[in-house]
Amino acid sequence: MTERSPATHLRLLARRLYRRGWMEGTAGNLSLRIGDDLWITASGCHKGLLSEEDILKIPLDEGVPHSPSGNRRPSAETSIHRVIYRLYPKTGAVLHVHTIEAARASEAAGREILLPPLEVLKGLGIADPETRPALPVFENALHVPDIARAIGERLPDLRYPLPGLLIRHHGTTVWGETLPDAIRHLELLEFSMGFLASRNSLES
Ligand SMILES: [Zn+2]
Repeated sequence: MTERSPATHLRLLARRLYRRGWMEGTAGNLSLRIGDDLWITASGCHKGLLSEEDILKIPLDEGVPHSPSGNRRPSAETSIHRVIYRLYPKTGAVLHVHTIEAARASEAAGREILLPPLEVLKGLGIADPETRPALPVFENALHVPDIARAIGERLPDLRYPLPGLLIRHHGTTVWGETLPDAIRHLELLEFSMGFLASRNSLES
C-alpha cells in the first residue's frame, strides 16, 4: 500500500468537510506540519474540488509559498496556523472551517464561551465536562495578522487551553498532535457549537 502524501490527506479531508457543509465555496483552510514544512491549502480554491497543486508546501515560520505552477498563494489565514504551531510545538495539524453553528454560537458570546457540560468534551481532553472549560472567542478582522496577533497574545494566558478557538461571526479553528486528533477535536467542538446554537435559537 502506498503512503498518502500530505497533499492527498489535506485534499481528501477538504472534500469530506466540504460535503458536511463546513467549507462552503472557498471557505476554510487546513494544514499539516511535517518537520519544518507547513503544508496548507491555497487561497481562493473551491474546497470540494482541490487538486494536489492546491496544497502548498511553505516554511513553517515565515516565507513565500512553494508552488509547482507558481501561481497559487497560501491561505490568507496562514498567519493563524503559524501562530498555533508556534504556541504549541507538538501540533501536527490545524483545521479551520466556517460553520453556521459556530457563527451563531459566537454571536452573543463575550471573550469566551463556557462550554456546556457535554459528554463529548472528554474527547477534547476535558476529564470532567462539569468543569465547564472556556472556549476563547476572538474578534474577526479584515487584516488577518491582527487576529493571529490577538491569538498569540491571549492563548498563552489561558489556564486550561482547549485545542480550539472561535473567531466571531467567522469560524472554528482547532489543532491536534496528529491529523486524526485535529479531526476529532473539530467534530466534537462543532457538536458543542451545534448544541449552543440550537439552545440560543430556542431562547430567542
Ligand atoms: Zn476563515
